Amino acid sequence: MKIYNTLTRTKQDFVPINEGKVGIYVCGPTVYDYIHIGNARPMIVFDTLRRYLLYKGYDVNYVSNFTDVDDKIIKRALEEGVPASEISERFIKEVKKDMKDLNVMEATTHPKATEEIPDMIDMIKVLIEKDHAYEVNGTVYFRTRSFPEYGKLSKKNIDDLEAGHRDEKHALKVDGADEKEDFLDFVLWKPKKEGEPSWPSPWGDGRPGWHLECSVMSKKYIGDIIDIHAGGEDLIFPHHENEIAQSEAANEVEFARYWMHNGFLRIDGEKMSKSLGNFFTIREIGEKYPLQIIRFFILSAHYRSPLNFSDQLVESAKASLERILTAVSKLEDALQSAKGRASTDDEKKIIEGLCDFEKKFDDAMEDDLNTADAISAVFELVKYTNSNITSDSSKELIKAGLDQIRKLCDVLGIITELKKEKLDSEIEALIEERQAARKAKNFARADEIRDQLAAEGIILEDTREGVKWKRA
Ligand code: AMP
Ligand code: ZN
Repeated sequence: MKIYNTLTRTKQDFVPINEGKVGIYVCGPTVYDYIHIGNARPMIVFDTLRRYLLYKGYDVNYVSNFTDVDDKIIKRALEEGVPASEISERFIKEVKKDMKDLNVMEATTHPKATEEIPDMIDMIKVLIEKDHAYEVNGTVYFRTRSFPEYGKLSKKNIDDLEAGHRDEKHALKVDGADEKEDFLDFVLWKPKKEGEPSWPSPWGDGRPGWHLECSVMSKKYIGDIIDIHAGGEDLIFPHHENEIAQSEAANEVEFARYWMHNGFLRIDGEKMSKSLGNFFTIREIGEKYPLQIIRFFILSAHYRSPLNFSDQLVESAKASLERILTAVSKLEDALQSAKGRASTDDEKKIIEGLCDFEKKFDDAMEDDLNTADAISAVFELVKYTNSNITSDSSKELIKAGLDQIRKLCDVLGIITELKKEKLDSEIEALIEERQAARKAKNFARADEIRDQLAAEGIILEDTREGVKWKRA
């Protein structure tokens, strides 16, 4: 497989460190709120990479962290008057629910920063011993200039970086807030502030810096060298650059062999982000569309391209996905009614022809995970089965066609069994209709709606505040 490596800015043949095995580390979300569809892009894209490698027979160790201690979590905890751990635990649960609905597989390990503090302290000690870090009044900084290759991932020149920040550097010195030796130095350990979560350390109570988390968790759960390190392109600098500096300075070996970065999801040509306020959470979108349409939409573009989000584009993804699902459903029906006769020679040829589409699919995926072209191969396959397989075909042929579509969709994480489950918005519309029927004294219709929902496992409860519902 060829992978575009951000480190070399070229497509390179993927060669794992240990034959047959791949260690992947993907920077996970900071858990202070629901994730938005932009955050879902790396989850879906790198889950698809994992599925493809599994399909190719690799043993994949997939590690993705939860950043569960951070300024944004602490801020929200203070606003709600609850401990920070309550916020992070709440949103880890919510993120996991969204991941499940997007058919993103659970990671082999989902480490949480707060559970890895002793190893973080150990790495800081090593960095201090090796003169790559220093402590000032309870804060430990990484000495950036002690790592000569700093900037190799983001292609930034260390002197340019320093020059670009001369004014800020001056300001920091003036207000005395910063005691770093050099503006480029970044925090490994920060001292406790009142009301914030903290852990004891040789430098006083405090908490780790964000960049350090990933260096430590990837080392613990994958090893000193990772095959593939991935995340959104905004993480290239400074996050991944700092991870490289810390890990390579501490472990004295190359940190990650291949760096993969997804492009940004945009809305009206602008990047989607919480700070700009132009985002949709997965939860909101899930009210409107089954989330596998969102997964399909995201995979319909190459992961490195920017991808614009609009209702129109999602509608078109929905229509495309339906073409595949309808073909599967027709083949399923045909299989049910098919007679168990042997395949004719022509049918055998059609079965052989199915492999061509798998080859096209694989070629696309081998080329830096080109899911857009891989989806085109699935469409060609669907066209082929639609025109060559009918309910009169042999069972063997129908099954081969069905299996081939399912196999490729499975690599993309697309579920081909049609989900019959109702959307929240559909349930609420039916409840409203039931209320209207009751008002009009049409109790037969009201009961009918209640029974229909009950048959689908949705329980209604009439309360003083109105009708409440839950899934059984
Ligand atoms: P955060 O919680 O902000 O650290 O983001 C978690 C992951 O989502 C990171 O890999 C980010 O690069 C990625 N990400 C955030 N916003 C977007 C976006 N609009 N499009 C694509 N990826 C994004
Ligand atoms: Zn990271």
